[in-house]
Amino acid sequence: MKNHFLENRQYDVIIVGTGIAGLFCSLNFPDDIRILILTKEAADRGNSFLAQGGISVLKNPEDYHSFFNDTMKAGHYKNCPQAVHTMIRSSTEIISDLVRFNVQFEKENDQWHYTREGGHSSARTLHHEDLTGKEISGKLLQAARMRKNIEILEFTPVVDLVCPDQSCKGVIITGPSGEKYSCRAEHVVLATGGIGGLYTHSTNYPHLTGDGMKLAEKNGAALENLHLVQIHPTSFYSPTSGRRFLISESVRGEGGILLNKQKERFVDELLPRDLLTEAIRKQMIKDDLPYVSLSLETMDAKTIPKRFPAIYRHCLENGYDLMQEPIPVTPAQHYLMGGIQVDLEGQASLKGLYAIGETSSNRVHGLNRLAGNSLLESLVFSKRAAINISNKIRRKDEEDDFCHYDAIKY
Ligand SMILES: Cc1cc2nc3c(=O)[nH]c(=O)nc-3n(C[C@H](O)[C@H](O)[C@H](O)COP(=O)(O)OP(=O)(O)OC[C@H]3O[C@@H](n4cnc5c(N)ncnc54)[C@H](O)[C@@H]3O)c2cc1C
Repeated sequence: MKNHFLENRQYDVIIVGTGIAGLFCSLNFPDDIRILILTKEAADRGNSFLAQGGISVLKNPEDYHSFFNDTMKAGHYKNCPQAVHTMIRSSTEIISDLVRFNVQFEKENDQWHYTREGGHSSARTLHHEDLTGKEISGKLLQAARMRKNIEILEFTPVVDLVCPDQSCKGVIITGPSGEKYSCRAEHVVLATGGIGGLYTHSTNYPHLTGDGMKLAEKNGAALENLHLVQIHPTSFYSPTSGRRFLISESVRGEGGILLNKQKERFVDELLPRDLLTEAIRKQMIKDDLPYVSLSLETMDAKTIPKRFPAIYRHCLENGYDLMQEPIPVTPAQHYLMGGIQVDLEGQASLKGLYAIGETSSNRVHGLNRLAGNSLLESLVFSKRAAINISNKIRRKDEEDDFCHYDAIKY
């Protein structure tokens, strides 16, 4: 039987996805704009909640050129320079926003503690232990749940868009017994994350299967660069199937070394991800093993459980004590650089449709994403999308008032 609660609901904005992009977008609307957020699973099941290493930020004005160059170099200089500039220039404002949402970043002597990740020429990554994504996304989810103008529907997959007259006016959702409903809004924002669920070996949640891209393409929006898939060089090796546990870049940034079968170092551990992945694959072939080893012997062993509690715990549960011995690591699918083609305000080529976060492609990452830039990019451009949509709603309200005034006058 149809649920009338769900049938033909009308909102100002519908956001699909409760990751960092969808949540932060919703929180950047004024509170008189009615927002519905839909998610396929529980609200805290998105890659955003898994992010470990941290978020890159412009440490000080002098760091600009170095941050810009690191991002361009990792992307093989195929990034959109305007997008990179916008991301870096907005980064400090975004961190201040997060602090207002009570996000706690690690400090040392009352100063931010910056960690260093692969591809960065200096330490400029803020983090919360090795649970940065959970800290940020959890606080944003808490804030969104408190807002009266935001409604969150969990376990509600979006299966199509409503697109009469070549513009997007809503979404089709599936109810608990498989029945279909339409929800309407003048603006629809897709924040459905990546494609890792399509792979056998991926660090992503399995329910992330590129749905936003499929829906956008089906309804005539342009996609681009779908071949730009990032493989993370170091996931915890396991012979069983299922999601691969990530061993963050910051483990190498803080001294972790990679060893071959002979227990010798064979590569610069801080190369950008694509180059390091290639070197590891070559070494695995030489060694005739499905993994190489990652050792933290250069770190003070006692600090390991404190600095990387989640990673330490995972390895221990799987029979390895990182304080005492190396762990087996292997590359796994991690991130998609391409996606729904958008401009710097998140607008797709289909009227009324926006895309933000990993499902979008604004070309900020070029051919290869720099560590820590995904959380930052998702936040920067989801805020811009919210501002762009809010302005459109305001302008439309003003036009409607003006027409109303004209009608009275004449
Ligand atoms: C293990 C891991 C560690 C990472 N570490 C870092 C890091 O340290 N720093 C960094 O910058 N980046 C990191 N990343 C990348 C980063 O976390 C993601 O790229 C980013 O969080 C994506 O955010 P998002 O909001 O676009 O998508 P997600 O957080 O993945 O959210 C997608 C949402 O869409 C919903 N959804 C999907 N399809 C549908 C549908 N059909 N209907 C309804 N809802 C749907 C999902 O349920 C989910 O709520 C990491 C990624 C992984 C997997």
